[in-house]
Amino acid sequence: MINRRQWLYGVGVMAGAAAQRSGGFTKDNQGPQKTQHRSLDLYDFEPTSMLQVHESRIEHAKFPVLDFHTHITTSAKSENGVELASERKYLGTPEELLAVMDRKNIRAMVNLTGGYGKGLGDVINKYDRAFPGRFYTFTEPCYERWKEPAYPELQAQAIEQAHRQGASGLKILKTLGLYLRENITSGVLVKIDDPRFDPMWDACGQLNMPVAIHVSDPVAFFTPTDRFNERYEELNNHPDWSFYGGDFPGNAELLEARNRVFARHPKTQFVVLHVGNFGENLANVAQNLDRFPNMTVDIAARIGELGRQPRTARKFFDKYQDRILFGTDATPHGDEFPQQVFNDQLYEIYYRFLETDDEYFDYAPAKIPPQGRWRIYGINLPETVLRKLYFENAARQLRVTV
Ligand SMILES: [Zn+2]
Repeated sequence: MINRRQWLYGVGVMAGAAAQRSGGFTKDNQGPQKTQHRSLDLYDFEPTSMLQVHESRIEHAKFPVLDFHTHITTSAKSENGVELASERKYLGTPEELLAVMDRKNIRAMVNLTGGYGKGLGDVINKYDRAFPGRFYTFTEPCYERWKEPAYPELQAQAIEQAHRQGASGLKILKTLGLYLRENITSGVLVKIDDPRFDPMWDACGQLNMPVAIHVSDPVAFFTPTDRFNERYEELNNHPDWSFYGGDFPGNAELLEARNRVFARHPKTQFVVLHVGNFGENLANVAQNLDRFPNMTVDIAARIGELGRQPRTARKFFDKYQDRILFGTDATPHGDEFPQQVFNDQLYEIYYRFLETDDEYFDYAPAKIPPQGRWRIYGINLPETVLRKLYFENAARQLRVTV
């Protein structure tokens, strides 16, 4: 058996020999065995682009924005990836958020992780009710009660209660499918299409509450963290984000289970976050959008994916312009994840991607691209599409009048 390095080396020697025999160009006469390599840690590699192309700065979105995907609050307690408390941690005050929103032409933000029970009520009072039209809060399932035999009915009732409290929709984290287990944090993984959730999906449909659902993760997170992995640095920095091995299902299996839920609950609206959770494969997302009229997508934390395939992405936006929502995954003070930190710079990058045809720019405000070492290209959307994407499509989901 030869390993890949020996094989590549062999190919190099043979190619060189062939070139010399035919009198073709060879770079030098030394051959690969004499090449000296200096080593450099990937971590220290920060190449400066010498490309000189036009740079736009879009400080203010062309039209008012509704950011459908932010996290202003989060659970005060979680264990093995499962949120276990109604109590919330507050990541940003309304005042500091509103200052950025006003500068960036953001009319409203959806806080997806509002929790349930008393914690949810507190959040709605502090944001949605105190600043009408600027904040919309979503509820989340109460997994604490998962083991109670009456969970299916209890969870459906919790949705009704959240609706009465003023919640605008339901958010499902990737907890479902990847973390929630039969004994909550231990035992067999619970499947996304487990029938015990059916009353919850139906309650959302009856109450016109959209379900913002995150299923699976980038495909690279399901492959080994090795030198062939295009997100090696990210997985190396966050080893717990890898779902390779163990008892984790694959990406395809997770998406199939998700699709069975969409098929079974046609009256419930599903906003599939992160470009339908498959930004690497827009053909697949398009296929599912064609198949499920109750499915829309957001673009949160995936302009790195969309912007590296600008021509395919542009066609996708043109074709599905009524079914794509603007979202960022913005998290106040989330400095550890530059692709989703809530600040002026982040929004300017999104606007630049959507509104210009600039080339080869960073998709996140960071020295090293955090989701893979590449840069992106703007898709220069026309005004009609921008209006829908920035506001109208999300407003329809939330039943907000423009
Ligand atoms: Zn998110």
